This record gives sequence, structure tokens and C-alpha cells, in this order.
Amino acid sequence: MFNLQDYIRDVPDFPKPGVVYKDITPLLQDPEAAKKATEILLEKLNGLKIDKVVGIESRGFFFATLLAERLHAGFVPIRKPGKLPYETYRENYSLEYGEDVLEIHKDAIKQGEKVLIHDDVLATGGTAAAACRLVEKMGGEIVQCNFLMELAFLHGKDKLKPYQVVSLLTVE
Ligand code: 5GP
Repeated sequence: MFNLQDYIRDVPDFPKPGVVYKDITPLLQDPEAAKKATEILLEKLNGLKIDKVVGIESRGFFFATLLAERLHAGFVPIRKPGKLPYETYRENYSLEYGEDVLEIHKDAIKQGEKVLIHDDVLATGGTAAAACRLVEKMGGEIVQCNFLMELAFLHGKDKLKPYQVVSLLTVE
């Protein structure tokens, strides 16, 4: 039986001491496991129509593109500042210490488009919430936010309250 946990590696003290980093590269290396994870995420969409899948830099890009292809939807990257070549909208969000910014291309989402937000890990929720604000400011409708994994002890779901949130694996 497929167990996502078997394909996620815990890396202690990365990127700084005290953090146990969830490394999804073992999942990416295994084509059958990656396919299975994609299929479960698709099942949890329950056939809802999606126009654009928004992937959050950078590990969100992998499964967002796989999902977009299967959904016959467009893929849209949300990136850290200065990475996107064309005109962008920006959104600030708070980190544990300080602030960060996300950017999206101005022509990426059209009024009324149905959007799936995807990232690999939901931690405090600040990143995904900022991505949702960007998409909504552009007139997109968030249908669901999905993640491979949710670190429930950081309560990221609270920041995504209005939205349907799906995670394949929940770490308590
Ligand atoms: P948040 O804004 O929810 O605190 O952090 C989520 C962002 O940080 C996501 O883009 C995610 O990729 C990254 N992130 C936070 N913790 C981890 C982790 O343990 N493993 C991985 N792969 N990414 C993480």
C-alpha cells in the first residue's frame, strides 16, 4: 500500500539548528510514488473545475505542474522577488523574524478563473495565505489549497480559514 511517509525524508537541523526539514526529493525520484501522490491530490479535488494551478516557489512547482497537466489547466508560478521576468504584482507576508515578498505575473490570472494553490509543505501558512491574497486581488477564485504535507503543530490552516485545505500527510 502507498504510504507517503515512506517517501519523505526528515533532515534534522536544516536549514538551521532545531528545524527538522521535510525533504520530498525521495518522492520525486520514484515515478510510481509521485504518480500515486498526484492521483490522490486529484481525487481530493472531487472533479472541481480548475483553470489555473498556482505553484509556490520552489518545491511547489513540481507537483503543481503535474497537477496542471492532468487537469488540463494552466500552470502559474509564484516566486520570490526579482525572479519573474515580466511585470508583477507583489504581496508582503510576515516571517518568524521579518518580512518576505511573493510575486506573480500580471497576466497570470484572469477575472473569474478557478484556481488551485499548491505547495509541498504547509507550515505556518504565511506563504500560502499571501499567495491566496495575490490570486484574489487579480480576480481569481480559490477552489482549494493543497499540500503534500501539513505541519499541524504550526497551525497553518488557521491562516487559510476561508479556503478548502487538503494535505496528503499531517504531521501532528
Ligand atoms: P509557511 O509560510 O507555511 O511557514 O512555510 C511554507 C513554505 O516553507 C513552503 O513554501 C515550504 O516549501 C517551505 N517549508 C517550510 N518548512 C518546510 C519543510 O520542513 N520542508 C520543506 N520541503 N519545505 C518547507
